[in-house]
Amino acid sequence: MKENYISKKLKINGIVQGVGFRPFVYNLANKFRLKGEVANTSSGVSIHIEGAKENIESFCSNLLKNHPPLAHLSEISFNEKPVEYFKNFSIVNSRSGNLRSTLISPDVSVCDDCLSELFDPDDRRYQYPFINCTNCGPRYTIINDIPYDRPNTSMKDFKMCAKCKAEYDDPSSRRFHAQPNACADCGPHVSLKNNIGKNIQSNNPIEKTASLLRKGYIIAIKGIGGFHLAADATNNDAVVRLRKRKHREEKPFAVMSYGLKQIREYAFIESEEEKLLNSIQKPVVLLRKKEANLLSREVSPNNRYFGVMLAYTPLHYLILDFGFTALIMTSGNISEEPMAIDNEDAFNRLGNIADYFLIHNRDIYLRSDDSIIRRTAGKTRFIRRSRGYVPVPVFLKSSVPQILACGAELKNTVCLTKEKTAFISQHIGDLENLATDSFFRLIIDHSKRILDINPEIIACDLHPDYLSTRYAEEQHGVKLIQVQHHHAHIASCMAENKLDSTVIGLSFDGNGYGTDGCIWGGEILIVEPARFRRAASLSYVSMPGSAAAIKEPWRMAVSYLYHAFGEEFWNLDLPLLKEIEEKNIKIIVEMISKKINSPLTSSLGRLFDGIAAIIGIRNNVSFEGQAAMELEMLADSNSDDIYNYEWLPDDTYKVLTQPIVCGVVKDMKAGIHSSRISSKFHMTIVKLFSELCEVIRKENGLNRIVLSGGVFQNSILLRGLIKALEEKRFEVYTHSKVPTNDGGISLGQAVVAAAIAKR
Ligand code: ZN
Ligand code: ZN
Ligand code: FE
Repeated sequence: MKENYISKKLKINGIVQGVGFRPFVYNLANKFRLKGEVANTSSGVSIHIEGAKENIESFCSNLLKNHPPLAHLSEISFNEKPVEYFKNFSIVNSRSGNLRSTLISPDVSVCDDCLSELFDPDDRRYQYPFINCTNCGPRYTIINDIPYDRPNTSMKDFKMCAKCKAEYDDPSSRRFHAQPNACADCGPHVSLKNNIGKNIQSNNPIEKTASLLRKGYIIAIKGIGGFHLAADATNNDAVVRLRKRKHREEKPFAVMSYGLKQIREYAFIESEEEKLLNSIQKPVVLLRKKEANLLSREVSPNNRYFGVMLAYTPLHYLILDFGFTALIMTSGNISEEPMAIDNEDAFNRLGNIADYFLIHNRDIYLRSDDSIIRRTAGKTRFIRRSRGYVPVPVFLKSSVPQILACGAELKNTVCLTKEKTAFISQHIGDLENLATDSFFRLIIDHSKRILDINPEIIACDLHPDYLSTRYAEEQHGVKLIQVQHHHAHIASCMAENKLDSTVIGLSFDGNGYGTDGCIWGGEILIVEPARFRRAASLSYVSMPGSAAAIKEPWRMAVSYLYHAFGEEFWNLDLPLLKEIEEKNIKIIVEMISKKINSPLTSSLGRLFDGIAAIIGIRNNVSFEGQAAMELEMLADSNSDDIYNYEWLPDDTYKVLTQPIVCGVVKDMKAGIHSSRISSKFHMTIVKLFSELCEVIRKENGLNRIVLSGGVFQNSILLRGLIKALEEKRFEVYTHSKVPTNDGGISLGQAVVAAAIAKR
């Protein structure tokens, strides 16, 4: 053989199984006339190749550049080997045994190849709503165990026909080892039912569904990660009816369109947003509304944005192809319960909401809500990280023990770690009802099994009454580590930015249980992963009625006003003093002065709520953070005015709320427009905290600042603080891989627990 005939072994770790990686390698090796073999291993794939040196080089560079869309290569090693003179290139059958630790692909949208077959009358899968291939379709939500083979998925009940089987066995086919492979002859089917499960006769249930939607009916549609409730977003009556039946007063509904052309009829799309909309994950992206548009005002009232996604399953495409501008596609649930995933449950729980049900007979094992993203300050920000992204791990800077972190109370996710990977679960929900609690337990058991993780440490919040804390305490034979909520927020952002040295952490948040039993949320912390110290916070005010003060921001307004003006506040000329009955305000004042059910809080989220109520935006909210969100939406952008501010030195700096509240009230008296007040308030928080950070930098010699907490979903604040801090030459770190809200807490708990265990 020639001198430049060489042999190499490649080991690739990452998401490389069940995503068409081996056939890709097979075809690539043949293209470059290489011999050898490719096989699955416990941590990924190993490739043995022999051939001309330059061909091997071309093979390697193609491997990195052109791998299948679902593959995620996390680690690659190359080793020279003695030449063995293979006769050909082959795909070696899985050496069974220890294949349990490979990464699983998320569910992704139908690919372009499948889509063109779907609409090709000559294709054998023409209009087949479950068309898929190795590059697309469901994965995570249909897997019950590993390895990822058909018998371990909800496709186990469907026996492939001869044609499908031939594709499945052919390494040159796009459907080689595509576990959900199916066709109309052998695979799942849709059927249309009324709301008590009776069949609706029609030649084409999808066409019938479209015509019912057109008439204004609400249809429950079974998708990839669960049921959606669908309605024509341009039909105001339908949207109003859906709100009433779902008990969802004002929280925005997500909408779905066929393509960018339809979206442009009602929203603006920036180029980075276009990439996100088109990505294989197909998240809901928050897009700025066009002033005049055809969608019902009730889709997202009092909001400058629409939550928009493109169709992502073949079924969505087939429905939207009937010419809708946009369909509401909101989670199929009642208020905050988990979304329905199986047919019977859907009829039981959604029977009073949906008029008809478009169901199918492919089971969903694990629910996964749509992911929600907003572009702010040049980066992608997760509001919810779920379908399409889970279970892709966050890769950590260093190896950690096997840990289960139970997450926060609201927007709960859990996190499991192993070596350098942290798997954050899909959105579980608010752990306030039994249904969510059982989903929480199911996800933990399921994830431990499919990720093959057996935690030796369990991490949870500090709050003694959380369901997740109780769950953690019930577990035996594991070490329990409790982590303060805002410590976890900052640690979460540190982990995704691979920081492990001490930082200044700004945790701006709604609620978190503090080490002193008070409710924190406007904190500057000095954080090293294993511990933290409170350097500054908002000064405490009462939260009259505790949780009731979150639902009724006017209570917080009274608290801040009473705190700033004492009994004098009764003489102020403010809308809320006219709108709320005097006797109710008196009760609140009494609760505050007599300290009845009025925990103390330093929450910045509550200050936003309180200011919103003081300036008359709203007194009550129908979802968490609504008042603060509307305050943000109101702000006019071109103003650098600020209110006076002040902090007191103490063992920690105490930022006073009185000067800000007094400034706002004074502007109200002067008849300044609320949009001006809102923007002054935002700028005050930016100026105040960036200056305070300079003081803390001087004292501690720290230049890295980490921003985390739910209040940073406010893009004026996030953009403003990044800019102000960078102008002061701080190194600023923010979230772009996990949510800044409580959905990111589980990751933080896990890395704090790992750091504590290491000490
Ligand atoms: Zn495909
Ligand atoms: Zn078939
Ligand atoms: Fe939080």
